[in-house]
Amino acid sequence: MSSIVAVGSIAFDSIEAPTGQAEEILGGSLTYFALAASHFSRVRLVGVVGADFNDEHMRVFGSDSIDTSSLERAEGETFRWRGRYLDDMNQRETLSLALNVFESFDPKVPKDVDANDFLFLANGSPKLQLQTLEQMPDNAFCLLDTMDFWIENDRADLQQVLERVDGLVINDEEAKFLSGETNLITAGNKILDMGPKIVIVKKGEHGAFLFSTYLHYALPAYPIEHVNDPTGAGDTFAGGVMGYLARGGRVTIGRIKRAMIYGTVMASFCVEKFGPDRLLEIDSTDIRDRYDDFVQFTTP
Ligand code: AMP
Repeated sequence: MSSIVAVGSIAFDSIEAPTGQAEEILGGSLTYFALAASHFSRVRLVGVVGADFNDEHMRVFGSDSIDTSSLERAEGETFRWRGRYLDDMNQRETLSLALNVFESFDPKVPKDVDANDFLFLANGSPKLQLQTLEQMPDNAFCLLDTMDFWIENDRADLQQVLERVDGLVINDEEAKFLSGETNLITAGNKILDMGPKIVIVKKGEHGAFLFSTYLHYALPAYPIEHVNDPTGAGDTFAGGVMGYLARGGRVTIGRIKRAMIYGTVMASFCVEKFGPDRLLEIDSTDIRDRYDDFVQFTTP
């Protein structure tokens, strides 16, 4: 079975939402991605934590499917992010962000990777993503995630990353921002011209849209009545997508469509509780049942 090498942020998140509040809980793009993808495939973490990241925090990565041997502990503090959701929980603002040890992180991809392994560049600095890509130029499939912060602060490097990846996952507002277009279809097509062979646009509670040169494909979100905390839903979606693709080792358009259903299912679990807690509770039966439910829900 292929493994997934994943690089991204490990954070302490503080969240304000109409549904409640949380201070300094475990988060980060790599955390959510790994906890979702590890339900399907082996994930090898390339990330950094500070001296304030203790053994109890580490236990979150205790699954046999998560390899932490390339996780670095540096002097200083772990990345911190604070965000607030508006009454419409599809809307979020970043209140503060401190990169801390993530700022000078020098990623080291494990030496024994091969061309069958998958690569996920989770939300993080495009420079870090480039450094990671350079260490793993031969991979089975490379998926990239990014956000407005990096589009705004390092567009030049991001453009280079886009030229070298197979796919991009991005949310709708960011797709419009990156392309400079207001129509989502024009935006998706324009991003395809920047390099990736596929672009998956996440639309929060409205689902996800796949752009490729062959076809377009759309999925609704799994209907969840009580969304408690949408933080990490995007990374979790990507975890379900990559986890499923790597488990089969092959990437075809048909498999990408099924992978998007798994991504949707995993994201629906993520939002049910604050932080990544729900991803730690579920098992393969929960995932399978919700997959079947979703297929029933979307099939005429
Ligand atoms: P999502 O809700 O999927 O967009 O991801 C939210 C997660 O991304 C949170 O756990 C944050 O710690 C993390 N995050 C927020 N801003 C950044 C950033 N600029 N770079 C990397 N990770 C970030």
